Amino acid sequence: MIPINHPRRESLLIRERLVDGVREGYVALQGLIAHGRGECFDYLIGETTINEALNAERAAVAALLLARNPVISVNGNTAALVPRDIVELAELVGAKVEVNLFYRTREREELIARILRENGAREVLGVGDDASCVIPELFSERRRVSCRGIYVADTILVPLEDGDRTEALRKMGKTVIAIDLNPLSRTARAASITIVDNVVRAVPNMVRIARELKAKPREELEGIVRDFNNDENLRKVLMYISRRLAELAQNHIVLEFPKDANYL
Ligand code: ATP
Ligand code: MG
Repeated sequence: MIPINHPRRESLLIRERLVDGVREGYVALQGLIAHGRGECFDYLIGETTINEALNAERAAVAALLLARNPVISVNGNTAALVPRDIVELAELVGAKVEVNLFYRTREREELIARILRENGAREVLGVGDDASCVIPELFSERRRVSCRGIYVADTILVPLEDGDRTEALRKMGKTVIAIDLNPLSRTARAASITIVDNVVRAVPNMVRIARELKAKPREELEGIVRDFNNDENLRKVLMYISRRLAELAQNHIVLEFPKDANYL
C-alpha cells in the first residue's frame, strides 16, 4: 500500500502497474530497467509535459492524420501503462495497432493483444503467424512485423522504441514517431518526430490533440508537420534541461528533516 500523501505516489503507482505486468507475464524484466532509465530523465525535465514535447505531440498527431497507412506499435510497457489511450488514439487517427516485442514470445504477444482488445481494439496485428514479414538489417525478434501493419506502414508511432529498429525503419523510408524521455538516445536522434515526454502523459495528450486536429483541413496539418524540425526541437529540450538544472543548483534547496528523526 502506498500512502495517499506520499510525494512520489504517482510514480510508485506506475511502477506497480509494470510490476503487475511482469507478474502477469507480458512485461519483460528488461522493461523494468528501461522504465527506470525513463524515470531518471523524467526527474530532469520535472515530470511535466514541456512545450517542446507538446509541439512534438502536435506534429506527431498531424503526421498520423495525414498518413495513408499509420500503425501504432505496442510493447509490454505501453500495454501496461496506457492501453486505453492507445486504442482511442488509433481509433481517432485511423491507425492499425500492432504488437511488437524485443523479447517476443507467443504467450506475451497473446496477452498484450488481449489487453488491447479488452480496451476496445477491434483488430490487433503482429500476433503469431501474422508477424511474418522481416525488417532488413535487424537481428532481434523485433525485426518480425506484420505484413499488413508495420511492414507496409508509411507512418509508425513507436512508444519506447530501441535505436536499431528506429534506424532500420527510417532506412525503409518510413516516418517514425518516437516517445522517449531520453533526448540523447539513438531512438530520439534517429526518429522523424521525437516526443520527449512520459508515455503516461504523451498518449493522453495526443488523444486530446487528435480530437482537435481531426476536423482541420489537410493544408493546415501539412503546415504543422512542415514547421516542426526534430533536431531543433531536441536541442531545445537539452537547453531546457540544462537551464532547469542550473536554476536548481542556484537555489540549492536543501530538504529539512526533523532533528530527532532516525533516518538510515
Ligand atoms: P537507444 O537504443 O535508443 O539508444 P536505449 O537502449 O537507452 O536507447 P532502451 O533501454 O532500449 O533504450 O529503451 C528504453 C528507453 O525508453 C529509454 O530511453 C527511456 O528513456 C525510455 N522510456 C522508458 N520508460 C518510458 C516512459 N514511461 N515514457 C517515455 N519514455 C520512456
Ligand atoms: Mg537500445
